[in-house]
Parts: sequence; C-alpha cells; structure tokens
Amino acid sequence: MPNYVRAPIAFERGEGAYLIGMDGRRYLDFAAGIAVTSLGHAHPHLVASLTSQAERLWHVSNLFEIPEQARYAERLVLATFADSAMFCNSGSEAVEAAMKMARRYHFVNGQPERNRIITVEGAFHGRTFGALAAANNPKYLEGYYPHLEGFDQVSFGNLNELRGAIGPTTAAILVEPLQGEGGVRALDGEYLRGLRDAADKFGLLIILDEVQTGFGRTGKLFAYEWAGFVPDILAAAKGIAGGFPCGVLLAVEKTAAAFTPSSHGSTFGGNPLAMAVANAVLDVLLTDGFLSEVTQTGQCLRSELEILAGRYPDVILEVRGQGLLLGLKLTQTVPNTQFIQQAQFMGLLMAPAADNVVRILPPLIIGAAEVEEGVSILERVCQGRV
Ligand code: PMP
Repeated sequence: MPNYVRAPIAFERGEGAYLIGMDGRRYLDFAAGIAVTSLGHAHPHLVASLTSQAERLWHVSNLFEIPEQARYAERLVLATFADSAMFCNSGSEAVEAAMKMARRYHFVNGQPERNRIITVEGAFHGRTFGALAAANNPKYLEGYYPHLEGFDQVSFGNLNELRGAIGPTTAAILVEPLQGEGGVRALDGEYLRGLRDAADKFGLLIILDEVQTGFGRTGKLFAYEWAGFVPDILAAAKGIAGGFPCGVLLAVEKTAAAFTPSSHGSTFGGNPLAMAVANAVLDVLLTDGFLSEVTQTGQCLRSELEILAGRYPDVILEVRGQGLLLGLKLTQTVPNTQFIQQAQFMGLLMAPAADNVVRILPPLIIGAAEVEEGVSILERVCQGRV
C-alpha cells in the first residue's frame, strides 16, 4: 500500500552498528530501525536466546502461565518504579493500554466522570484512534473522522497552562519526557516534577510515553530517572526486544489493580519468543557499566555534533537530545529529508523528525570509532550544503 515513502535501499544483513546492502555496500546505522535495534544487528546473546527459545516453544497465549514472562516482569519491577507489568506488541498498543488503565482506575474508584487526558502539543503516541486523538497532530488525523473524544492539549513546556487545563473530569496527564518524533524536544526535570505535584494535588495519574526513550536510549533504563520523579503508568516498546515486536505497560499497584480479569488483553502479548529476547536485551542493559557507557558515548557524540554546529551555522541551528537520542535542528534552507538522503549516499543512516530535525539514534553499543565515522560523514554532508 502506498502509505510509506521508502528509501531505495534493501539490506541483506546486519552486523553490530552496520547494515550491509544487497549490493554489498556497508552503512553505519544511526537510525537503528527508529530506536529499536538498540543492541545493534545480530547481537550474539540475542540471537542465541531467540534461536534456543524458537526450538522449544513460540506461543501459548495468556490463557496459560508463561514463566519467561513472569520472570521478565519481576526483573522490570525490580529495576523500575512499577509494581507490575503487562505485555503487548507495539508502542501504540502500550499507549492505548495506558490510557484505558487511567480511565478504568477512576471508574473503579467511583469517579467515572474523570475520563479526560491532558496531552502536550508536538506529541506522538502512535497510529491507533486513541493515540492519534491524544497527540492531536492534524497531519496524522486528517481523514480519520470522527476523532476520539476525551483529550485536552496544552502547549509544550508550559506548566501554568497545564495546571489551568486540569478540571473535575481530568483523569491523567500523558507526556513523553523527551519528544522523539516531535523534533527531539525534552521536557525539563522541573517541569516533570511540577507535573507530579499537580497530579498529586488533584488526584490525577501521570502516564509516561517512553516508547522511544525507554530501555536505555537516554542513558538510563527509563528517562524519568533523570528527572528524579516517578510516574503512575508507563508505556514502552521499540528497544525492548532489540527488533522483536513487543511492548510493555508498567504501573504502580493502585492503578494496575484497575485491570481486573478480562478488562484488557492481548493474544500475542508477552509470548515466549518475545520474552526470551526481551530478557536477553535486559541482561545486556543491566550489565554493570553498560548504561553509564551509553551516557558517555552520548556526551561524546553530542559534543562532536556541537562542534559541527559551530563550524556550519548555515546548516545546523542547534543540537538537541539526551544520551543516544540526539537531534540536529537544521536551518530553514536545508530540509532534513535532503540532508538525510545525502548522508545515505555517503553511507550513514538516520531518521527525520518534526521541526526540520535530523534524528540520530545509533545502537547503544557504539564506541568511539563509530562516533568518529558518523561525525566525519556528517561533516561531509555539511560541507556539501554550504
Ligand atoms: N509513542 C512514541 C513516543 C513513539 O515514538 C512511537 C513510535 N514512533 C509510538 C508511541 C508508537 O509506537 P508503534 O509504532 O510501535 O506503535
């Protein structure tokens, strides 16, 4: 179907931070399948876990116990704010489940009128009806009337406006701590802690969409850790299983209790194959020093990008982001899609974002050599543009 605009490249295989085209050409992959293949391609531990599980058991459904799923949930509970976890297959699905949980929490607590969710301008939450209505982006909503009811949107980073939008029918606030698709724009720690205060004062729930920022992308297991506060509900996916489709809903006890038997579910969610790989990804992410290495590599890449921005102010206006979720905001005269295409010709893959931003999302396993190679290609692209 004609819904994708694809680059005319196909890959035969991947090795770590590199993709190898059908024509044998090597590409440095700073797109990572849009923040998904976080441990690079063909990571030996992931391959071994997947193949060993594939030989034993793929799928049984949530009609039965799934020990790999229980083990994974317990590990996530130990590593995060959450008291329990539920699994699905994508980011949109995790966000939908989070919003359903928020509404149902107020319903089971005798306040069904509390069903509206406050969201932030520039957000991206997925392509399902609820996620589209939540993000309220006209570009993605066009033609899909009637839009789902129950959302109020406030401008980015304005805490006073957000407080003013809270009313007697507000159930929850849904935000991405760092907007990815929206142009690599971070909400600062003060804002996020302010959200927590407002939510506590008015009895609301905080839902974090960490679909893109989660699982080590920013240098912590989840980005909320940087801000020193905790949400009530968190949706994640993308990097969770290194490329195997999977999503997760994490929640504190009081909100998780709203999901009584049969109030929500998924056929594939948390099946043995997905859980084997998710457990393997977590093994690596929780290895001593792994995440601090991501932070260091991110800082190193960021400072190199800032040097480039200083050298080529006609091309790069600003460097944004945290950890290995970075963005180059380009000047008006340089469209991000053209910049990305030029880089592709030179062997570097990246992803676009709104606001004329080039998103740089390398696998979390890159080191100094890949940073250097990526930056030198970016420099050549900048040279061709001025
Ligand atoms: N939320 C955020 C923050 C995302 O970045 C995305 C995907 N770009 C989604 C939700 C939707 O995830 P999926 O495409 O897996 O449904």
